[in-house]
Amino acid sequence: MELRCDLHTHTYYSDGTLAPQALVTRAVAQGLEVLALTDHDTTDGLAEAAAAAATAGLRFIAGVEISVTWQGHTLHVVGLGIDPHHDALARGLKRLRALRHARAREIGERLRRWHRIHGAYEAVRARARRVVSRTHFAQFLVEQGYAGGMREAFRYYLTRGAPAYVPGEWVALEEAVGWIRGASGTAVIAHPARYKLSASKLRTLLAQFKECGGEAIEVISGSHSPEANRRSAALALEHALLASLGSDYHGPENHGVELGRLPALPAGCTPLWERWIEATDEGRGMGQDGGFSRPSFLCPHC
Ligand code: AMP
Ligand code: MN
Ligand code: MN
Ligand code: MN
Repeated sequence: MELRCDLHTHTYYSDGTLAPQALVTRAVAQGLEVLALTDHDTTDGLAEAAAAAATAGLRFIAGVEISVTWQGHTLHVVGLGIDPHHDALARGLKRLRALRHARAREIGERLRRWHRIHGAYEAVRARARRVVSRTHFAQFLVEQGYAGGMREAFRYYLTRGAPAYVPGEWVALEEAVGWIRGASGTAVIAHPARYKLSASKLRTLLAQFKECGGEAIEVISGSHSPEANRRSAALALEHALLASLGSDYHGPENHGVELGRLPALPAGCTPLWERWIEATDEGRGMGQDGGFSRPSFLCPHC
């Protein structure tokens, strides 16, 4: 069944700019049929988004994007169809947010020490609702005139090799996947082409990911080139992983891909959302709610 899905998005509860309600309104305007909210290291926006989606008649998937450290690389693992109240997940995400605060304090200290930029940490704390992110530092640096734009702010101050870069020490891959599975969700490797891993390291990662219960990979990502999408499709097939897709939308001010504006999955990929479509007695699953199995669709846990 063809469905217009976007399974990777953010709100102002992490480093996006829209409220959950506004994200849902935009998803409807874009003609989406299925939306997942996947904020970094928090589930705080899910209840608001689920309520707005129910009112709008949009299918909603409760999600999260978890920060992971694997062999010295920061990776993102998306959890979809999660119960946000699951204890181990909730406690784990709380721990990640505390680590983010400690890192933010260190970034602020380095901006002061190396660039004589004062008050960055305090400003970032004031603007971040729940999760402090490098995105908030970049916004501060642009607003204060220290950088001409977000890309420049990241490049000169915040990415690997820059003086104020502080590598996060996040959670292990197995731990993040364990939390997602414990919370009844599906674990997805987000934007695999973004990590600059060699082909053999990527293979090792995907093998380990599967071993610990990971099931899907983002084949189409708003932060991938068309070539990267093709390579990710090949990886999905090679490792027998389900295929997901998402814009990684952060808000209208950001110059990334528009919400829901994504190419279709390449032929041969098995769409992750097929597992949410119920087969009925008649055969091809169009149940009362459009064939979606209730647990993932209605977000009963929010
Ligand atoms: P953090 O999780 O705090 O390390 O921040 C990472 C976030 O920064 C990502 O989720 C992106 O939203 C954003 N980001 C990373 N690199 C860039 C970049 N070069 N330009 C703009 N945003 C970026
Ligand atoms: Mn982000
Ligand atoms: Mn990400
Ligand atoms: Mn993201």
